[in-house]
Amino acid sequence: MIDVVIAGAGPNGLMLACELALAGARPVVLERLAGPAPEPRANGLVGQVVRLLDRRGLHERLTGNDEPPRPAPGFVFGAFPLQLHDLPDNLLYTLPVPQNRVEQMLAERAAELGVEVRREHEVVGLTHHENSVTVEIEGHEPLEAAFLVGADGGHSVVRKLAGIDFPGVTTDDSVSRTGSVSVPPESVGADGSLLVPGFGAVPAFRHLRTDRGLVAWAPFPGRSPGLTTVEWDQPEEGEASLAELQASVERVLGAPVRIGPPTGPGPHLMRRLFGGNTRLASRYRAGRVLLLGDAAHVHSAIGGPGLNLGLQDAVNLGWKLAAEVRGDAPKGLLDTYESERRPAAERVTMHTQAQSVLIRPGSDVTALRVLFGELLELPANRQHVADLLAGVDIRYDMPAAGPLVGRPAPEVPGLRELTRTGRPLLLDPAGELRADRVDVVPMPGLDTALLLRPDCYVAWQGTTADGLDEAIATWFGTP
Ligand SMILES: Cc1cc2nc3c(=O)[nH]c(=O)nc-3n(C[C@H](O)[C@H](O)[C@H](O)COP(=O)(O)OP(=O)(O)OC[C@H]3O[C@@H](n4cnc5c(N)ncnc54)[C@H](O)[C@@H]3O)c2cc1C
Repeated sequence: MIDVVIAGAGPNGLMLACELALAGARPVVLERLAGPAPEPRANGLVGQVVRLLDRRGLHERLTGNDEPPRPAPGFVFGAFPLQLHDLPDNLLYTLPVPQNRVEQMLAERAAELGVEVRREHEVVGLTHHENSVTVEIEGHEPLEAAFLVGADGGHSVVRKLAGIDFPGVTTDDSVSRTGSVSVPPESVGADGSLLVPGFGAVPAFRHLRTDRGLVAWAPFPGRSPGLTTVEWDQPEEGEASLAELQASVERVLGAPVRIGPPTGPGPHLMRRLFGGNTRLASRYRAGRVLLLGDAAHVHSAIGGPGLNLGLQDAVNLGWKLAAEVRGDAPKGLLDTYESERRPAAERVTMHTQAQSVLIRPGSDVTALRVLFGELLELPANRQHVADLLAGVDIRYDMPAAGPLVGRPAPEVPGLRELTRTGRPLLLDPAGELRADRVDVVPMPGLDTALLLRPDCYVAWQGTTADGLDEAIATWFGTP
């Protein structure tokens, strides 16, 4: 019997496969497509996920150098520029890398770890048994697995087959157009902004709201710039085209803009999307079936929070599911996947919906923006929004006490090398603690000892061994 069948070789399915393999479980990934998805999607990673990838040694594979990630000096929220460099505790990391590159890197990593990815294998059915799941595959023999994870995207077949509801809202009054373009060199300002005669400068990598809609200009280094508009009640028929995008930009800005077809390396994009979905699975687990990533939650792509959410789901689930498969998981461990990660998804669906309102035209929204802009001048409010975007505004509920417990591990020199194994760690400043089931690492210079779970969350902290054994038993079972 296979340990875990993962339906879907998107970024989240591949990340889970890597985490399972790292923890000694044997996953098989089933993917309905013959090759990588052709459609460009995410343009970058935003939030804690960047630091998490670094802690698995994967950040350097995306950047090509060993520099650790640094928090972003600024970002955007609901078409407001968000100044971050002056915040005392800025944890908003960004990495401008296209999704297909992330998927390619994760596929290579999975292959190195011995993960089997079976392409042109579409999951079409499942049967639940007491100790296993039978997974039916179009045109192939069924597979027997201890667990099935649906990482098969927003239209998840696994979610439907498992009978898990997907409540939420669908809107149909907005139309978003995105294209890879070229512009004359004289149209780009020294700061990268797009200069539009008759309007002014459209800043780079910000959302610009006018009374008629939204424009976003993204001059990516090394590839064709992207131009996006969002308008309301402006449906169009036929193939999405450059001329349509150009007309839309002109409507939103009230001035013509000179754009041409993309010239840089592809893949190039020309897309029109109507409306959007905000939905969250009513539960993440039905017996031996679990949901991951977009299969569990869909929301607007505004601000790019999708992979921060999904890849952290994968790292949260990986070590717990591996422990379950190995048979050494403490009671209830697997259920903490939902209790920890579903609230994180609730925060993302909340803030993407809030941002989608803040970018709409209308005098009532303009009034709301005046107030919101005033609130963002206060550093404490900017910190609040930065934490929300970084995905660190929630704290996992854990029995141990301490200000760091339930939170991502703080920056500690040398930690990014130690966490690559995916093993639980006990960082011990005095070098006196003893524990089994976790790797004990002397770490002079720390104020307190820290017990870190494989997903790099703090599960216990203390200056003595009080409560340490209980914390280890809670998360890693008894010897
Ligand atoms: C326009 C757009 C822009 C975005 N921008 C950003 C951004 O800047 N930053 C960000 O973080 N996120 C962004 N996102 C969100 C991000 O793309 C998604 O969150 C991410 O792709 C979800 O990954 P996943 O692995 O859960 O699902 P998917 O990427 O959807 O992968 C699911 C996989 O499952 C396969 N599959 C489906 N059904 C079956 C089946 N029955 N059997 C086997 N295989 C199956 C599919 O072929 C696919 O390969 C954007 C999304 C969109 C649409």
